[in-house]
Amino acid sequence: MTTGAIIFGLAILIGVGLFLGQPYWQTARPQSNPLPSRRQQLLIQKDALLEQIRQMDFDHETSKIDPEVYARARPQLIEQAASLLKQLDELVDPRLDAAIESAITRQRGQVPQSNGHLAPQPALAAASGADAAIEAAIARKRARTTSLETAQPAAAFGEIVERFCSQCGRPRDPEDRFCASCGRKF
Ligand SMILES: [Zn+2]
Repeated sequence: MTTGAIIFGLAILIGVGLFLGQPYWQTARPQSNPLPSRRQQLLIQKDALLEQIRQMDFDHETSKIDPEVYARARPQLIEQAASLLKQLDELVDPRLDAAIESAITRQRGQVPQSNGHLAPQPALAAASGADAAIEAAIARKRARTTSLETAQPAAAFGEIVERFCSQCGRPRDPEDRFCASCGRKF
């Protein structure tokens, strides 16, 4: 047996050894978080949705999708994405909000120009359309929630107090001393 054949044989052995050992030294790498958290799941779903919307926008631009299907499906996807983002919003600590806002700004592809204004990058301009629509949907949802939350306390003050019983809500005359329905003193 020549020296060359021995070296060749050793090289094959080392190669086989490395190949067989691969699963072991791969799993030996530290895994920071093996189970995705609720937040990570939502983020993954959100990314998948955004990708779907972008793909659909692209198909629409290249006339690969029926305009009617597009017009019907896109708002639904936007709504889904908005509700995902709202769930994410409710999960996060308010202190993280600023960090997320800046991340969203980055994701939109807005970069500060030398004059200090924000300008969309051309490559990501299409994506910012979807993001803006999602933000608008979130704003609508937020506004709805806020108006529901503030409707009750707001109704307890001002002129409404003069015209309805604060206990049972029955309309009353300003001259009434007692509620005709529940007997509450005014
Ligand atoms: Zn009453």
